[in-house]
Amino acid sequence: LIIVGVLALQGSYHEHLAHLTSLFEDLSNDKEYNLKYEFESREVKKVEDLDSLNGLILPGGESTTMSILLQRNGLLEALKRLIQIDKLPCWGSCAGLILLCNEITNTNIDLSGKNVEKSMRYKSIGGLDVRVHRNSFGRQLDSFSEKFTLENFDGELHNAEFTCVFIRAPVIKDVLSLETRQPEEAPHSDTENRIVRATYIGDIVNRAKPEVLLRLGSNEKDSMIVAIRQGNVFGTSFHPELVKGDYRMHKWFIDRFILDSI
Ligand code: GLN
Repeated sequence: LIIVGVLALQGSYHEHLAHLTSLFEDLSNDKEYNLKYEFESREVKKVEDLDSLNGLILPGGESTTMSILLQRNGLLEALKRLIQIDKLPCWGSCAGLILLCNEITNTNIDLSGKNVEKSMRYKSIGGLDVRVHRNSFGRQLDSFSEKFTLENFDGELHNAEFTCVFIRAPVIKDVLSLETRQPEEAPHSDTENRIVRATYIGDIVNRAKPEVLLRLGSNEKDSMIVAIRQGNVFGTSFHPELVKGDYRMHKWFIDRFILDSI
C-alpha cells in the first residue's frame, strides 16, 4: 500500500486530494500499476498522520500562516526530520515550495508584533538549497497561467506541454552552493530584505544536487526558476492541482519520487 499525504492545514489541499483521487482511480485500471500497488491519500493535520507515509504534498496557500500552524502543532520539527534526514519524498506547490526552501527573501508580510509571539514567525522546513523570493511577480502579473514545454523533466513529462498557473507566486532566484551553506538559522531582523534561513539538520556531505527543471525567460541571468528537484524534494512555483483533469504532474511525482525510491 502506497500512502500519499497532503498537508491539510490551509490552502489548496482539497484540490491536491481530488487530483490524487482521480489519478488513483485511473491507476487502479492500469495493468502496469494495479498488479503491484494500491494507492491511498491521507489528510495530514497532526504529527500522528505522518505514520507510514510514502510521500507528502505541501499545497499552495499562505506560507507564513502555514508555517505558524506547523510550529504550533509540532509538525514543523517532525517534517524537518522526515524530509531532511529520512528523505521522505515531498512536493511543495507555491506556498508549499516556500516551506521547502532553505533561504527565503521578501518575508516582510510576516506577522511580527501582531498577536503572534516572536518565536512564531515564519520558519521553513527546508530541504532545497535555494533562495526563494516570495510574491515575485509584479501587480499586473500577480496571477497568470501559461503553457510551457517541460524540456528538463524526464519520463512521461519530458517535453510535455503543461499549463502552469501562478498565483502571487514565489520564484527561485539562486541555487545555493552547498559549501557556503549556513548550518544554523541566521538571527532574525525586521528589515524587509532579510533572509530567513531554515535550520539545517541533514547530511551536508552526501547531499543530492539541485536540478533546475523549469526556468522562465531565455536568459540564465534572469534566473526565474519555477520548478526544481533536489533528491527527495520537488518544488513548483505554480499549481498543477488547479488544472482540471490533468494529473500528469501528480503521476510524475509518484513515479519519480515515491515508486523509484522503493
Ligand atoms: N504568496 C503566497 C506566499 O507567499 C503563496 C501563494 C500561493 O501559494 N498561491 O505564501
